[in-house]
Amino acid sequence: MSCRVTLLPGDGIGPEVARAMQKCVDATGVRIEWEEVVVGAPAIASQGTPLPPEAIASVKKNRVAIKGPIETPIGKGFRSVNVQLRQELDLYACVRPARYIEGTRAVNTKVDLVIFRENTEDLYAGVEFDTGSVEAGRLISLINEISPKKVRPDSAISIKPISAFGSERIVRKAFEYAVQNGRRKVSLVHKANIMKFTDGLFLRTGQQVAAEFAGKVEFEDVIVDNMCMQLVQKPELYDVLVLPNLYGDIVSDLCAGLVGGLGIAPGANIGAHAALFEPVHGSAPKYAGLNKVNPTATILSAVMMLRHIGETDAARRLEQAVCDVIREGRNVTYDLKADRNDPTAVGTQEMAEAICHKLRK
Ligand code: NAD
Repeated sequence: MSCRVTLLPGDGIGPEVARAMQKCVDATGVRIEWEEVVVGAPAIASQGTPLPPEAIASVKKNRVAIKGPIETPIGKGFRSVNVQLRQELDLYACVRPARYIEGTRAVNTKVDLVIFRENTEDLYAGVEFDTGSVEAGRLISLINEISPKKVRPDSAISIKPISAFGSERIVRKAFEYAVQNGRRKVSLVHKANIMKFTDGLFLRTGQQVAAEFAGKVEFEDVIVDNMCMQLVQKPELYDVLVLPNLYGDIVSDLCAGLVGGLGIAPGANIGAHAALFEPVHGSAPKYAGLNKVNPTATILSAVMMLRHIGETDAARRLEQAVCDVIREGRNVTYDLKADRNDPTAVGTQEMAEAICHKLRK
């Protein structure tokens, strides 16, 4: 039986890594019917929007999607398509594993973590008011009226909403994952000593959920700045991390760095009705069209997708093929070579071919 999956290739290096991923998934023998929808820069050129309604409609219909990265202009232009997709489809759990793979230029070989980042709230909610705007002015007047702490009149404002509902479901997801995957501990990361109400609510709600899993999964809470230092020095102490949106974004890049960089860091955005798989990295515009970057992050995102649709054997075989190619170190991209200028580094599609070759053996 075939499964229909929405493919959003994205822009920048997105189409190249998406193509490489598609080849590898097809080489597992699993029959996927790819429903491709153009998003990002090419969609702006052809349809005047980076996120055409067909993209959302396709993911809603198929309930499973995989995407390449999409550029977000800094401080101007369109709102992040990635954030819009996560919000419109209510993909509340961002799941990012960070695990050492032999042969990578990892900083630490003892890392085996899974990060659960809340995906819909916090400073990423998109509730923002620009400096000098009427709305910012009204909000600042109200705050200065009701709060003893004053805000400067020329401030820009971003709102940080964190709800009990949003906190409960992400922490529960992390605990459920820990139970299903034999993980021993969940660490909740916060800054509740400073943000007593928002992060405080995340922490208190997390403690309530943790009580339901007492005896099955250990629980601890760690302040985010301390967690960053601990992860650099003793990552082996940690197992499953659960974080609000902003800290989750930053800490997952830190963990990607620990295991050898963004080129090998996969991710998933999971909701109650749909799941969207994507690499952690962005569209790396300077490498676009050069057939140079590492396709591993997108291929490992597809491994997560195969597990999600119940193709566990294909997922295991594809993951093994990726690990074998990286361990052997011959057919790998520049970022996996000891010297980044190594002339024997292969291109994106050639690395994917080497992985396909292992699968066909
Ligand atoms: P980036 O991840 O695109 O690139 C940063 C650097 O990481 C690159 O210069 C490169 O050295 C390295 N890198 C990234 N992917 C790699 C790969 N597959 N193989 C080898 N090396 C790789 O981050 P950025 O430069 O901060 O962002 C570029 C654009 O991507 C921005 O517009 C940003 O908003 C967007 N972005 C999109 C997503 C997404 O679509 N989910 C995520 C992050 C950033």
